[in-house]
Amino acid sequence: MFADRLRRVQEAMEQANIEVLLLSVGPDLPWLMGYEAMPLERLTMLVVPRDTTASLFIPAFEVPRVVERPDVFSVEGWGETDDAIANVVAAVGSAATIAIGDHTWSRFTLALQEALPGRTWHRGGAIVGPLRAKKDPEEIAALQRAADGVDRIAAELQSGQIPLIGRTEAEVSAELGARILEEGHAKVNFAIVAAGENAASPHHHAGDRVIRAGEVVLCDFGGTTAEPEGMPGYCSDITRCVFTGEPSAEFLESYEILQTAQANATAAAVVGVSLESIDQVARSGLASGNLDQWFVHRLGHGIGVEAHEDPYLVEGNTELLEAGNAFSIEPGFYIPQKWGARLEDIVVSTEEGPRSLNNADRGLAVVEA
Ligand code: ZN
Ligand code: ZN
Ligand code: ZN
Repeated sequence: MFADRLRRVQEAMEQANIEVLLLSVGPDLPWLMGYEAMPLERLTMLVVPRDTTASLFIPAFEVPRVVERPDVFSVEGWGETDDAIANVVAAVGSAATIAIGDHTWSRFTLALQEALPGRTWHRGGAIVGPLRAKKDPEEIAALQRAADGVDRIAAELQSGQIPLIGRTEAEVSAELGARILEEGHAKVNFAIVAAGENAASPHHHAGDRVIRAGEVVLCDFGGTTAEPEGMPGYCSDITRCVFTGEPSAEFLESYEILQTAQANATAAAVVGVSLESIDQVARSGLASGNLDQWFVHRLGHGIGVEAHEDPYLVEGNTELLEAGNAFSIEPGFYIPQKWGARLEDIVVSTEEGPRSLNNADRGLAVVEA
């Protein structure tokens, strides 16, 4: 699996005429070789040449945490008083075209650029991003496990097992977070709980607002799965809305338009269509209820080792959907000072058509407590 990823990275380097790729903190490294760099001032850097295995430069005392994969990389521990940049510079050698990972801290990037004058620098994301966007079967299985975990939590929310009325948004958010960890995740990435008028803010920060009877509660939550040492975690991300008591006819009508738009956009996610066309399907569905003016964000984002990654389903993105892409379909409407709603699933595109990894009930659940 990792050897195959290294091969694909080196092929992409060949095509882009990149002689060496440098990866440090962030999601590219765990995806490529199963090790996540500590986000520290001490340099961790993988040097990927075009035709041999890679070299991982790492603080010596971190070496025990590395699961060795000699067919992918060798490990070079550097001592506390060594010059880590000099080690990387030596490994880069005479390479004239260098790509460096998008998340690399500027303190390292600038030091390397100063020590390697006269080279051409490129974004590592341009090499690794498109490869990460096309999931292999192991990744789709991990995303499915992540989705199954949050689906169960969504069902608990919809069945009233997670009480809402009389609690603050922050209390419910903390409970969602605890359940995300119980469901096999190593960390919680977000647990948005937005009640009533707060649901009009797409990334509302759960606060002291007490949830009352007779309002919408938008919950958008996800984390990164726990995996054995040496394997990268994968992300979950789901949004469901519940109503505390009977919804008004006006809200219910809007919600049903949203649900139909989400279903139609999911069905439209067929291999070969443009990414922006899928966004457009959701937008025109919402327009039938004059709700498109309140759909203020893109339809979706890719997901994998990172919660948001390539590909992005947004107007202006004319790239085509490929088999193996994993992404969210998350239309919403947000009416300031009034209310809002969003419905979000993670979907994988396959040659047989779109497959939703999340399958929790998509209707507007009514809870009494
Ligand atoms: Zn979001
Ligand atoms: Zn979400
Ligand atoms: Zn999302």
